[in-house]
Amino acid sequence: MANQLTVAQIQDFKGKYPKQLWYLFFSEMWERFSFYGMRGMLVIFMVTQLNMNDTVANLQYGATQAFVYAFTFIGGMFADKILGYRKSLFWGGLLMIVGSVVLAIDPKAFFFIGISFTIIGTGFFKPNISTIVGKLYKDNDNRRDAGFSLFYAGVNLGALIGGYLCIAVANGNMMASIVPEALRWNVAFGFAAIVMVISLLTFVQTQKSLGDIGISPLLDIEPKKRKTYEIITYLASIAVIPFIILLVSNSGYTDVFMYIIGPFSLIYLLYEMRGFSLQENKKLIAALVFILFSIVFWAFFEQSGGSLSLFAAHNLDNTLLGAKVDPNGVNNSANSLFVITFAALLGILWIWLSKNNLEPNTVVKFGLGFLFLAGGFYVFYYTKFFADANGVTSLDLFTFGWFIITFGELCLSPIGMSIMTKLSPQKLQAVMMGMWFLASAYGQYFAGLLGANIAGASENASNAEKLVIYADGYQQLSIYALIAGVLLIAISPLVKKLMQEVK
Ligand code: GLN
Repeated sequence: MANQLTVAQIQDFKGKYPKQLWYLFFSEMWERFSFYGMRGMLVIFMVTQLNMNDTVANLQYGATQAFVYAFTFIGGMFADKILGYRKSLFWGGLLMIVGSVVLAIDPKAFFFIGISFTIIGTGFFKPNISTIVGKLYKDNDNRRDAGFSLFYAGVNLGALIGGYLCIAVANGNMMASIVPEALRWNVAFGFAAIVMVISLLTFVQTQKSLGDIGISPLLDIEPKKRKTYEIITYLASIAVIPFIILLVSNSGYTDVFMYIIGPFSLIYLLYEMRGFSLQENKKLIAALVFILFSIVFWAFFEQSGGSLSLFAAHNLDNTLLGAKVDPNGVNNSANSLFVITFAALLGILWIWLSKNNLEPNTVVKFGLGFLFLAGGFYVFYYTKFFADANGVTSLDLFTFGWFIITFGELCLSPIGMSIMTKLSPQKLQAVMMGMWFLASAYGQYFAGLLGANIAGASENASNAEKLVIYADGYQQLSIYALIAGVLLIAISPLVKKLMQEVK
C-alpha cells in the first residue's frame, strides 16, 4: 500500500538518517550519473562530431548548463502548484529518459532535441527530489543538514562514475573491444538512458515508503479538474520543447533568457509573498540572501569546467602523488571524490557539534564556505611559484586546492538545500529550491564570463605567461571570495534575525 506510513511516523525515525534517505540517495545518484555523464560529453561531442570551434562549443555548453538550472525554478513552480513533488519528479525522469534515448539513437541528427528534453526533465526532477529529502525531517530536527550532506555524497558518487564512464566509452578508452567505433557515442548516451531508468525504478520503490510526502497539492479540488490541470502541465512542458531547442541552439539567446528569468522569479516571489505573514516573509528574505551569495560561490566554483580545465591542460604536470595521471581527469573528478570521502564525515561532525551546542549556524557555515573557497583559489594561485621554465606546475598542489574548496562546497551546497526547506513555507518549498538552483544557473553563466575574461587575456601568451595570467586571475577570485565570506559573517546577526527560530 502506498500510504501506509504517516508523515509523522517517517519523521520520527531513530538513528542518524531516515531509511527513505537511502532510497533517495540512490535515485539521485543514478540521475546525476545520467546528468553528469551527458554533461561530461557535451563539449567534446560538439567539437569532434558537430565540428564546432572551441569558443562556440564553450558558449553552447554554458548555455545548456544555464538553461538546465534555470528550469529548476519552473519545475519547482509547477510542483508546488499542480503536480506535487512525486509526479513532477517522475515526469522529469521520463523526459530525461526520452532525451537520452533520442541522443542514443542519433546524437548528431537529434543533438539539440535530446538536450532540450533533458533540460526540461532535469527542471522537473532535480529541485523536487531535494525538497522531498527536506520533508523527511521535522521542522526543528537538527539531523537535517547531515541528511543533506549524505544525499550530496550520492550526487557526487553518480557524478564521478557517470562523468568518467560515459566519456571514456565515447572516446574509446573503455569497452573499445565490445563497442564498434561508429557506435561509441550512441552507447555512451545510451548509458545515460539506462541509468535514468534505474533512477526512476528506484524512485517508484521509494514512493511506497514516503507516506503522503510529495502528493498532489490540489487534493481539495475536484479530481477531474485536478487531472485536467496535470495533463495541461504535461502537454505544455512538451509543447515548449521546440522553443527550448531554438533557445539552446542559439547561445546568443542565453543572455536574453538570463536577463528575463531572474527578475521574473523575483517578481513571482514578491507576488507570492503577499499571501504570507511577516514572519514567513522575513524567512524568505533570509533565503534570498543565501541564494544571492550562492551565485557568487558557483561563479567561482564552476571555473572547474571552463578556465580550470584549460589551466589543467596547459600548466599542470601529470603526476599525482608519484603516479602518472591525466591532469584534466584530476580536475574533473578530484572534487567529487573528496565530497564522497568527506560528506558523511562532515555530516557526523555537524551532529556531534549540535549535540554539544557548538554547531555554527547556517549563515556562519556559508561564510566558512567562502573562506574555504578563498583558500582553495589561493592555492591555485600559489601553484605559480612551483612552475618550471615552461610554465608547468605541480598537480599535487593543484589537487590540494580542490581538497580545500570541497570543504567550502560542503559548507554551502548541501546546507543551502537544507536551509531552503527550513525557510520556505509549505506551499513554496519547491519554488524556493528551484530558486536555489536558479542561482547555480547564474553562477554557471557568470563563471563563463569570468573564465572567458581570464582566457581572453592569455590568448597569444606563451605557456609560462599563461600560468601567470591564470594564477593572478585566481588570486583575484580568492580575494573576492574572502571578502564575500567576511561580509557574510559580518551580516550574520542580521540574517539570523530574519531567520528567527531557524538555525
Ligand atoms: N554538484 C551539485 C549537484 O549536481 C550542485 C550543483 C549546483 O547547485 N550547481 O547537485
